[in-house]
Amino acid sequence: MSRAVEARAVPVEPVDRRARIRERLVAEDLGALLVLSRANVRYLSGFTGSAGVLVVDAEGGDLLVTDGRYDAQARAEASEGVGVEIASDPALEVARRRLRDRGVERVAFESEHLSVAALEEWREAGGHEPTGVKGWIEALRSVKADPEIEAIRRAAAVVDAVFEDVLDSIRPGIAERELAAEVDRLLARQGSEGRAFETIVAFGSRSALPHARPGARTLESGEVVLLDFGAVVDGYHSDLTRTVACGEPGKAVRELHAVVRRAQGAALEGLRPGMTGPEADALARDVLEEAGHAERFPHSLGHGLGLEVHEAPRLSRKSEDRLESGMVVTVEPGIYEPGRAGIRIEDDVLLTPDGALRLTRASRDMKIL
Ligand code: ZN
Ligand code: ZN
Repeated sequence: MSRAVEARAVPVEPVDRRARIRERLVAEDLGALLVLSRANVRYLSGFTGSAGVLVVDAEGGDLLVTDGRYDAQARAEASEGVGVEIASDPALEVARRRLRDRGVERVAFESEHLSVAALEEWREAGGHEPTGVKGWIEALRSVKADPEIEAIRRAAAVVDAVFEDVLDSIRPGIAERELAAEVDRLLARQGSEGRAFETIVAFGSRSALPHARPGARTLESGEVVLLDFGAVVDGYHSDLTRTVACGEPGKAVRELHAVVRRAQGAALEGLRPGMTGPEADALARDVLEEAGHAERFPHSLGHGLGLEVHEAPRLSRKSEDRLESGMVVTVEPGIYEPGRAGIRIEDDVLLTPDGALRLTRASRDMKIL
């Protein structure tokens, strides 16, 4: 197989990831990038704490500024080439003084992660006007290295096992909240570091709300049960949705399920590196449209998975992302009929040169419990 441009290896170590960012800083004549997003700080430095600023310096000598609570942790986790400064002053202020002392004038910020308040403080303290940059680290993160894929694979195995186990608890009379708590308990038991997001459990007509919060409603025989939950392993996320029924749901619901399953199958079959977000989205949307459900699929086909549960790329009609081998994305078409039922089926897949490889393996049949 020959390719005109050889794809660059995906950087595994934080030090190699920062080297990529540094190349970009140099190319754009910027002196440093201040990294504020927690996932991006982790990706570039190895530090998993929840407070801190990472300075990626165009000339090297990167610095992680955090506070006393993270002293030991920061020193233990910070990757090769990252100095640690424990400060009692706000981290951004410490970073600003450091860059001022170094004479760095052109400082880049992640425009999607800098708050207005932090920007105002920066200006008031006399910081040079920052240059906003967008999506640099997110683009790098979107293509996974082998250890990252392995972590997501393990997180996918956790949700598969939880789905299998939670089926035993689905019975008439149980409340959505109770079932959601059972999902969360099973996630912990199977080794998840927490839940990837607030677990969604929706019964009957409430399943027609794509992001229903579990409530006090109890399950009745013949109703559908929509479960959407995720696991976290080594910081990496999985995300699974299945729709089952408690007792016979009737022909109409079975047909809806069959259509969604077909749409999801078409997307899994058709996904290829090189496709754009809208092209990927159309794989499932076309099937739903042909079946007369064009208006009943109000969200996008899927999203990237990694250190965050929603990250680049976006598989949507408006996305400008292009799929690449090594990306991990969800494929989650749905049909939502107000007042009746919502059906969604979601799997996590790895994009390979040959197409999508499913990481979540739970059965997609319409289980009748
Ligand atoms: Zn989900
Ligand atoms: Zn999802």
